[in-house]
Amino acid sequence: MDMLINGTAVPATDEARIKVINPATGECIDTVPRGSGTDVNTAVDAADAAFGTWSEKTTRDRGLILFRAAELVRRDHKDLARLLTQEQGKPLKESIDEVRGCANILEYYASISGQPAGEAVHLGKAGDCLVTRVPLGVCGAIIPWNMPVIIMGWKLGPALLAGNTLVLKPASTTPLTNLRIAGLLQEAGLPHGVLNVVTGPGETVGAALVKHPRVKKISFTGDCATGHRIRQMAKDHLKTLTLELGGSDPMIVMADADISKAVDGALRGRFYNAGQVCTAVKRLYLHEKIAEEFMHLLIARVESLTIGNGLLPATDMGPLNNREQLERISSLVREVAEQEEGTISTGGSPKTGSAYKDGFFYQPTLITDVAPDAALLKNEVFGPVLPVMTVPDLSAAIREANRSRYGLGASIWTRDISTIKEVYQRVNAGIVWVNRHLTIPPEVPFGGTNESGIGRENGFHALDSYTQTKTLYLGW
Ligand code: NDP
Repeated sequence: MDMLINGTAVPATDEARIKVINPATGECIDTVPRGSGTDVNTAVDAADAAFGTWSEKTTRDRGLILFRAAELVRRDHKDLARLLTQEQGKPLKESIDEVRGCANILEYYASISGQPAGEAVHLGKAGDCLVTRVPLGVCGAIIPWNMPVIIMGWKLGPALLAGNTLVLKPASTTPLTNLRIAGLLQEAGLPHGVLNVVTGPGETVGAALVKHPRVKKISFTGDCATGHRIRQMAKDHLKTLTLELGGSDPMIVMADADISKAVDGALRGRFYNAGQVCTAVKRLYLHEKIAEEFMHLLIARVESLTIGNGLLPATDMGPLNNREQLERISSLVREVAEQEEGTISTGGSPKTGSAYKDGFFYQPTLITDVAPDAALLKNEVFGPVLPVMTVPDLSAAIREANRSRYGLGASIWTRDISTIKEVYQRVNAGIVWVNRHLTIPPEVPFGGTNESGIGRENGFHALDSYTQTKTLYLGW
């Protein structure tokens, strides 16, 4: 598949290609151009040229195009989901959820396109001010490989509705579905140059986009270290940044919780998408009164998961997205065992057997009694490995939950309103769920504190972040 610049499918200027590998089989399913800084410059020129006409359309007209694009995504959702599973690895049912989720986001932004977004300020005798919100210009979006379709929606929905044009760089392991959806936006009537997709390595294409003087904003989702690099690279041109850098979400289960529901929550919260979700449950804290019963149920559920190629209907959990991730997770768990930093209750190694030999499969893993300073608790663990700790009371649970440099999400499982209030007030997180984990509706802001990043995706907050105010001062 080629990349999309100014409404046309184009190869890279130097004709180089990147292989896209199916993580379940190790087979190359397609190639995309290995773009360069030159391709980024061409894409930014196209986006810049398209900005005038696009930004002068009414928000309602822009919203209608997003709405038509959502219809086309729904029309093609089966093909898109299959492609997503082939390049990303997740089970088909999860890909279908993700593709539909992208359509939901486009519809959501289309649905708010008629609403006013400015303000009028009366200054008495000094006059009146009219404050409007205007788009920023050309924006850049850098997409990760874990949820490439939904994250594409989070960035392009508000960016385009607000009247900006966009250059989007997909992750190099998952560019195909992003390119296909960009094609559907053209089919929906998006003018040429409004959305451009440049494929290629982050170190060159991503960096060129971040450093480009005419790119006014970068919205990035990915690794914390990459986020810090982007911040450094962006500082020379005073760009606006949204950085969504992952998390190490705690899930706290109190003695009064509905245990069966909480076991379901932990299972889905950690093993959905093979654990490759920024807001996955990454640390589980169980009240000591229910810990034994909970673990008994959870181990049984984890051991009954069917691991396999995401295209097979029975699959509950697919492979990791790429070999580096498999190696990262394997060495992390090996380190826990070697340094006696925890007890492996189930799993603990890559999946073996002929069905798994060419893919990047890791067993769903539970580790108990984890040492508080283990890397497993300190870093973002992006795979199907769940550390489980026992706590004597709520204060201890909150103290442990806050022992993290991240602050994205957290969940509390209880029936007690005062417990909910205490967790909401005291746990460092951008979102606190009660008796659920992971749900991220397009209507509400999403993002974290501390090292989890800056800025918010979704809702009006994201829309505002793709605009700046402009004031008309009327001195009557
Ligand atoms: P990265 O942060 O490297 O990749 C995310 C995106 O950034 C990709 O499109 C990548 O391009 C691009 N990128 C990489 N380097 C640069 C750069 N210097 N300038 C601009 N863009 C760049 O994550 P990894 O794929 O290396 O994954 C490593 C870890 O990151 C995971 O183990 C996980 O902990 C975390 N992660 C968190 C995510 C989240 O949702 N919070 C998502 C993905 C990863 P390319 O693909 O070409 O390298």
